[in-house]
Amino acid sequence: MTDSIKKGGISVQTEHIFPVIKKWLYSEKDIFLREIVSNAADAVTKLRRLSSLGQYEDNGETYRVDVILDKENGTLTVSDNGIGMTEEELDRYLCQIALSGALDFIQKYEGDNQNNGIIGHFGLGFYSSFMVSDTVEVITKSYTDAPAVHWTCFEAGSYELTAGERDGHGTTVIMHISDEEKEYLDKFKLEGILDKYCSFMPVEIYFTDVTDADQKSKKKDDKEAPKPINDTTPLWLKNPSDCTAEEYKDFYRKVFRDYREPLFWIHINADYPLNFRGILYFPKITNEYESIEGQVKLYYNQVFVADNIKEVIPEYLLMLKGVLDCPELPLNVSRSYLQNNTYVAKMSAHIVKKVADKLNSLCNTEREEYEKVWNDIRTFVEYACMRDRKFYDRVKDSLLLELTDGKFTTVKDYLEGAKEKHENTIYYTSDQAAQAQYISMFEAEGLQIAVFDKNLDTQFLSQIETYDTDIKYLRIDADVAGALKGDAASAEDTVLKELFVKVSGNEKLKVEFAALKDAGVPLLVTVSEESRRMEEMMKLYAMSGMGSMGAFPVETTLTVNTASPLIAKLSDMADEKREKAAAFLYRSALLSQRKLSAEELKQFLADGYAILDLI
Ligand code: ADP
Repeated sequence: MTDSIKKGGISVQTEHIFPVIKKWLYSEKDIFLREIVSNAADAVTKLRRLSSLGQYEDNGETYRVDVILDKENGTLTVSDNGIGMTEEELDRYLCQIALSGALDFIQKYEGDNQNNGIIGHFGLGFYSSFMVSDTVEVITKSYTDAPAVHWTCFEAGSYELTAGERDGHGTTVIMHISDEEKEYLDKFKLEGILDKYCSFMPVEIYFTDVTDADQKSKKKDDKEAPKPINDTTPLWLKNPSDCTAEEYKDFYRKVFRDYREPLFWIHINADYPLNFRGILYFPKITNEYESIEGQVKLYYNQVFVADNIKEVIPEYLLMLKGVLDCPELPLNVSRSYLQNNTYVAKMSAHIVKKVADKLNSLCNTEREEYEKVWNDIRTFVEYACMRDRKFYDRVKDSLLLELTDGKFTTVKDYLEGAKEKHENTIYYTSDQAAQAQYISMFEAEGLQIAVFDKNLDTQFLSQIETYDTDIKYLRIDADVAGALKGDAASAEDTVLKELFVKVSGNEKLKVEFAALKDAGVPLLVTVSEESRRMEEMMKLYAMSGMGSMGAFPVETTLTVNTASPLIAKLSDMADEKREKAAAFLYRSALLSQRKLSAEELKQFLADGYAILDLI
């Protein structure tokens, strides 16, 4: 028993850590509560373990951690009925180990620019309480027979140790909140911090505001039993086969406060040696312009660390929402260290594989459901494929093509069906309204057309063509005349050829002759897929402020349909009339391929009126 007051000073070289702790981590001060509450939860876990080993006789006690706000006295108290400390242990753990740990931590990161190098500021420990307090008292009683001790530590680095008084085993940490940090005496602020960091800690945590509690006890009939603020057995710890869809959805709503239902989820349960668990959800995205910023919460043994740590999972997976609990992750190391860590690399690869497996299994066994959600997950999948070739290779057989008739197919099935007609080419439309004429011509030929009308699509197609070089994607107004052509190429008519070059005003215009199956279309304008994509890229660059590189000339081909009666008529017309008619036909064909410029539209109408005049 310590009868006399024992005074001590934390050694000279460590004295400076108090002011540093206080000023430091300015934006991350909240974590002090996580550190103190998780110490309390650990103390309970340790005692439970001793009990299960038969080294402690547990008389059916209910383990708990209490967080008590006493605004009037300016204190915040965290109390547990865990393992407790003897005087000697307190000296060893708090005055020596914890202190030198905090010192190491600070020395390691003090010079770090804004402390960005540390994830979730993990590992500062007990002394983080001095970020918000000027005095911290610890009253602790070991689970052994040793008496309770009362230790008071001042921000100047000195402490006092006296005999303590405590009802049972456990530890009470009383933080005297400093004047500058009064906001930590705000009930809502504290509730917010507890919710963020402590929602899934393994021991029940109760929060009491003494002022509230006083008022309640005056009202006699208010006998509502207090509820813990946390869920001690979060869903990710359960066996996936024991979890229901409703439980997954509930968990999602609670954790992400998203009223929309997730599309589907992946429960990861990686065994030794990876040893981590988690649930990843595919959120519902209402439209493609909505920012698809997900949220992946990282936990360490049920203690929240931080959101969206891109060092740990590939950045494209951050579009998902979910939780990962990784007790093996070295968190008290710098971010750059994590980037080159083999454990992290393996963990990340495992997550990618699980996501790909899920898409494949949905595609193979729940095709109808998969088709329903395809347009919601498509942007994510395309982006992921663009960022990660390995991911693409895993999921490529489960990438769906949406067709103009509203049905879905896979690339493999599409190519299988198209074998005789157009080997290894996938035709697509980027705008069903504007390319309607081409669509109907293709459909008349019995050819399937995929719809790629999203922002990301052009880049996505260009990228996957570099992955699978034998598959080509051609827009239906691209070099596609071949797909629509009759068998024999028709002889060239030099007079008409020159005429169309002249009326188009484009000397580089390629003019071809073919007997198309659809005789109702006199002329067909097509543009080279490659040159059009280049042009689109240029526009994107210009739009994103990267400077204009000038207009990129799109290679245009005009196919003259020798099967068309109008073309036959054209040859028989008088010169003046023929030129007007040719110009009008040319611009009509152009119009069905793209929007006309103001000048072109004016000319188109003028030609139309001139022809009427000649009738
Ligand atoms: P860490 O928790 O990372 O070990 P801390 O500085 O937070 O570092 O704590 C140092 C040590 O003090 C702990 O390892 C533990 O032995 C002891 N300790 C802290 N809080 C408690 C508590 N509430 N009950 C029992 N022991 C505690």
